[in-house]
Amino acid sequence: MLRNERHVPSNQPPPPDPTDRRYGTDAATIRATRPLPEQADVVVVGAGIMGLALAWELSRLGPRRIVVIERSYLCSGASGRNGGGVRAQWSSETNVRLMKESIEICRSFATRMRINVWFRQGGYLFLARDESMVRTLEASVQLQRAHGLPTRLIDAAECKAIVPQLDTTRIIAGSYNPRDGVVFPWPFVWGYARACRRSGVEVHPFTEVTAIDTQGRRVTGVTTTRGRVRAPLVVLATGAWTPQLARTVGLELPNRPHRHEICSTESLAPFLRPLVADLSTGLYVSQSMRGELVGGISNPDVPEGLDTRSSMRFLGLYARALVRTMPVLAGVRVLRQWAGCYDVTPDGAPIVGRVDELDGLVLCCGFVGHGFMMAPVVGRKLARHLVLGEERELFELWNLRRYREGRWLGESMILG
Ligand SMILES: Cc1cc2nc3c(=O)[nH]c(=O)nc-3n(C[C@H](O)[C@H](O)[C@H](O)COP(=O)(O)OP(=O)(O)OC[C@H]3O[C@@H](n4cnc5c(N)ncnc54)[C@H](O)[C@@H]3O)c2cc1C
Repeated sequence: MLRNERHVPSNQPPPPDPTDRRYGTDAATIRATRPLPEQADVVVVGAGIMGLALAWELSRLGPRRIVVIERSYLCSGASGRNGGGVRAQWSSETNVRLMKESIEICRSFATRMRINVWFRQGGYLFLARDESMVRTLEASVQLQRAHGLPTRLIDAAECKAIVPQLDTTRIIAGSYNPRDGVVFPWPFVWGYARACRRSGVEVHPFTEVTAIDTQGRRVTGVTTTRGRVRAPLVVLATGAWTPQLARTVGLELPNRPHRHEICSTESLAPFLRPLVADLSTGLYVSQSMRGELVGGISNPDVPEGLDTRSSMRFLGLYARALVRTMPVLAGVRVLRQWAGCYDVTPDGAPIVGRVDELDGLVLCCGFVGHGFMMAPVVGRKLARHLVLGEERELFELWNLRRYREGRWLGESMILG
């Protein structure tokens, strides 16, 4: 509805305008404003980056009633808590190919969605400290180059030329793709949410799906804290919460939530162009356009669970690894630390596609620590798969049934 079309009684304040920029995103994201519809063509559960990207792409494929249901505020899940890293440096053909396309979508996102997402292509620099890591990087560089990417295997001196602050005494080699980059995750989520609303998708925050409704072997809709929505197609884009929700229909999933911590420092004058990553420790750090260093590290002691608390142990691990990599950062102050949940699968690859056991149920989860960068391309391909039947091969590869069939996938460049 356009603002000047709305009838407002003169003695009452106007209802919030969903396109009003004063709310940073829009009023409807800060409270549940409208009743739920009784019927939809598709219900997407979860308004993280995956759910919103999928809903928007579905809306572009023809008229249908699409409803996105989110139990909290937008950005409350991993999509509002991540490092914003976007890269095509992967070791598996699938990930390289998909991320090449995703980066292209990121490049035009701001113009198409009319929102600044602070996308900066400063590259990713992976460091190798031992021979086995060099071999991993070597193989993946070869694969990426075969896909037309400009990634190069470089020696320690060239690593230092790209980031002069590096201590390269124990670094043997690195791999560098200048087209990788970082985004600011929040406006990316808001951009999709706004585009969804502009194209008629209903996004309902603060509404929890408490059950997936079924009749025999068919999904019939969802029950929520604000009523029921009937729909023949229900997509679970619920990140680390997916196993919990799937269990309500007796579906046991192999992915598990694991806390992943991250922090940002005070602002420094711009000095760090690429995101620097070290696969041996899981350390990654980039400099935001406001000058803060944003980064994290693997913490092998974290037990599985939906836990988003911060810890001193993380700060110690991160600080030691960061200062070992760039000693000049020893005196930098951390201003903020937070945590989110990785949605970890046994083989590090996502679980996306239709579920054999229940007609009409679709999973879109298991993106470990790299789902944000994949959402633009996965949203697009999954929408085309569901509506047009395209991309069968990809969603066969990523289907849940691969675990039953013993078809595990591999990826050796996972951070965190
Ligand atoms: C600290 C950290 C750093 C990361 N860094 C990167 C990075 O640099 N690059 C990258 O690509 N990825 C990164 N990731 C991973 C990335 O954030 C995730 O893979 C991605 O955001 C997953 O998106 P999603 O939409 O699937 O899940 P989420 O963003 O978690 O969204 C799921 C949504 O579902 C909602 N929900 C759950 N249950 C229900 C229910 N019953 N009813 C209704 N709604 C429900 C939740 O509230 C949530 O909003 C990082 C993650 C973390 C935690």
